[in-house]
Amino acid sequence: MATTPAPTLESVRDDRSFFGHPRGLGLLFAAEMWERFSFYGMRGLLVLYLVNALKWSDGDAARLYGNYMSLVYLTPLVGGYIADRLLGTRNSLVIGGIVIAAGHFVMAIDNMATFYTGMGLVIVGTGFFKPNVSTMVGQLYAAGDPRRDAGFTVFYMGINLGAFLAPFVCSTLGEKVGWHYGFAAAGVGMVLGTVSYVLLRDKYLPGIGLAPGRGAAATAGAGGESPSRPWHGIVGGAAGLGVAALASSGNWVALLMGAVIGGAIGTAVLGTHGEERKRVIALFIVVTFIVLFWAAFEQAGSSMNLFADRHTDRTIGSFLMPTGWFQSVNSLFLLLFATVFAGLWLRLSKAGREPPTAFKMVIGLFLLGLGFVALVIGGRLVDAGGKVSPVFLLAAYLFHTWGELCVSPVGLSYVTKVAPVRFASLLMGVWFLANSAAGLVGGAIAAMTETVKSQAAFFAIPMATSIGASLLLLLLVPLLRRLTASVQA
Ligand code: GLN
Repeated sequence: MATTPAPTLESVRDDRSFFGHPRGLGLLFAAEMWERFSFYGMRGLLVLYLVNALKWSDGDAARLYGNYMSLVYLTPLVGGYIADRLLGTRNSLVIGGIVIAAGHFVMAIDNMATFYTGMGLVIVGTGFFKPNVSTMVGQLYAAGDPRRDAGFTVFYMGINLGAFLAPFVCSTLGEKVGWHYGFAAAGVGMVLGTVSYVLLRDKYLPGIGLAPGRGAAATAGAGGESPSRPWHGIVGGAAGLGVAALASSGNWVALLMGAVIGGAIGTAVLGTHGEERKRVIALFIVVTFIVLFWAAFEQAGSSMNLFADRHTDRTIGSFLMPTGWFQSVNSLFLLLFATVFAGLWLRLSKAGREPPTAFKMVIGLFLLGLGFVALVIGGRLVDAGGKVSPVFLLAAYLFHTWGELCVSPVGLSYVTKVAPVRFASLLMGVWFLANSAAGLVGGAIAAMTETVKSQAAFFAIPMATSIGASLLLLLLVPLLRRLTASVQA
């Protein structure tokens, strides 16, 4: 009787049985789908619960929401660092999954202390989970494997499948049965994701994400370089704190962010040299532009949501479409178009004509800007009086989704290409840091609706920042290509 040989990292990487990708991608797809299901399920309930059940003001709810979003995307940097140095991504994922699930269950208890404790647990748990699941996707592919970008696009579909389904379960339960059932449902999703990961990881992800020094994928490429020193992070963190103190008039989330960003720059830049350092610098430049991408993109939840609510004709015959439905449009378009983009990158790469990642991001920012052009046009009609057809919002979401497909999955893949392996998860955390900073910038943009009353003039602001950032990044593409020439990113 033939015995199957134990799976190795090489056999995993050669595997093509999950839509042409390693089966481990399917497992990471499922784990991240459930994590995002829990994340978006809870996020969809959060503001409504505060305003409707706890009778908070819109402003207080929006502030808590903003701080939550900033913090939940700040901890991945710390979680990534701990995974690189200490735990490995494999252990970090399980810790993160358990802490997140515990957070949602604690939030399901009807009490203010448990509510905040639960949110804190989700913030900490996401730090352990989110960067590390993405880093592991990168480890499924050997350097130079042309399937990498396409693999990240498939993984990104898992994110959006979770995001798309969550409102149907968590919002329905939360709004119709009881808020706490909605929060608990989010926790159940996270338990399912963690359990399936633990049961199947030995089979589908052998040798991936071990603690430093214990496995090929965890240490490959680390040979010879000097390890980073704690003082690198401390010097950078102090400098970042100083800059944030000058720039932010003492907002504590901004101070924390400044210290963390500075610490990351110090650790990754001072801890590398030569080609590696050039690639790390390229990543920080790119991430700066991506802050502007998410700041405009995440208007979906704020100013675009209000455009749907107040200025869009949502009647179909005698049926009034709930405003919230527009929140799922992005995930739906994403699921429809992800394979088109993944196929496009693969075809271009086979033909030897794949554009560098930085150029894809130029296109992504430009498409995002075009989406806002649709809202400026719709906004002019609103300014003239009356409600407009949903066509304008749908067009905006379509362009935004196409832009997202040129930026976000591609960006995750880019990080795994340019990051030295010993900083893989830390730098994945840096990628998510763009979201954290975007929370602050995007909130400031959304707050301008209070002074800029014309809808057309308001949407011209994110239109201009997106197209402006796109053109500026275009000028930097040759420099970025030179900085990342050693890995052809
Ligand atoms: N929707 C994606 C996710 O949840 C990206 C969100 C973001 O980075 N702003 O991972």
